[in-house]
Amino acid sequence: MELTLLGLGAMGTALARAWLAAGYPLTVWNRTSGRAEPLASEGARVAATAAEAVAAGDLVVVCLLDDASVGEALAGVDLTGKDLVNLTTGTPAQARARAEWAESRGARFLDGGIMAVPPMIGVPESGGYVLYSGSRALFDARHEALAVPAGTRYVGTDPGFAALHDVALLSAMTGMFAGVSHAFALLRGEDLAPKDFAPLLVEWLTAMAPSAYEIAGQLESGDYTEGVVSNLAMMVEGNSTLLRTAEEQRVSAELLIPFMALMERRLAEGHADEGTTGVIELLIR
Ligand code: NDP
Repeated sequence: MELTLLGLGAMGTALARAWLAAGYPLTVWNRTSGRAEPLASEGARVAATAAEAVAAGDLVVVCLLDDASVGEALAGVDLTGKDLVNLTTGTPAQARARAEWAESRGARFLDGGIMAVPPMIGVPESGGYVLYSGSRALFDARHEALAVPAGTRYVGTDPGFAALHDVALLSAMTGMFAGVSHAFALLRGEDLAPKDFAPLLVEWLTAMAPSAYEIAGQLESGDYTEGVVSNLAMMVEGNSTLLRTAEEQRVSAELLIPFMALMERRLAEGHADEGTTGVIELLIR
């Protein structure tokens, strides 16, 4: 099996090193050729063009900046008979369109969403993994090579599903970052060391994270009051303490207010006994 990798940015370089370390014959290409030089000395073959790199591989992995750069790099390149794995971050719609585009050029297609940062690549104990969706046949046939840089999780034949899972996880993380930012802002100016507060924060967020299972159960059953231990009426009441404290500490509550406003709307619609699951209904357009 001949392996080709297009894209030697921070992530592509980490992927390349993992495959080289595992003894895979690897051809690489990067738009800016200088970035390939260190890999050449580590055993990679360096192709002068994307077309030449693709021609050299049966399994072609692409890890470029965005979907537009994938289209640009592969424009006019012969993909007939290739297994194309796109590890470039994009939207579900972009992944679906890219799958159609690849298949119409005679390639099998798998999209991937990397749930890791470069230092986690090639380090199994880091817990990093890649979400895959699209051709199951490709995933099964190439699993051994795909499993070298990071763990693998296949999430469905719909090529948009890897991106959908990826973006949903990153969106949840964004909310967490917002909450953490607000929490540290509250401590500013007090005689409190952020590093002493950090372990409490991690412990609390870890303890609260399994609430996702409760929300999932309620979404499945359709009963948003099922197993509720903290109801919306109580939580909305508690919001006023959160807001008053922000004011006392001279901290803007702009990161909290949008979610609180949705909780209040759901409560006003008569759902005092629910948790926060009903907020999801208000988000659907
Ligand atoms: P970098 O910015 O380090 O590298 C971007 C790569 O894309 C470079 O190889 C660059 O080439 C290439 N590129 C950009 N535009 C074009 C173009 N028009 N034609 C050809 N090549 C192009 O990004 P990363 O390596 O960090 O990220 C790559 C992908 O991996 C992204 O989609 C990112 O979202 C994803 N990812 C990255 C993570 C990270 O922590 N780094 C984590 C999870 C996913 P050149 O060298 O010539 O500029």
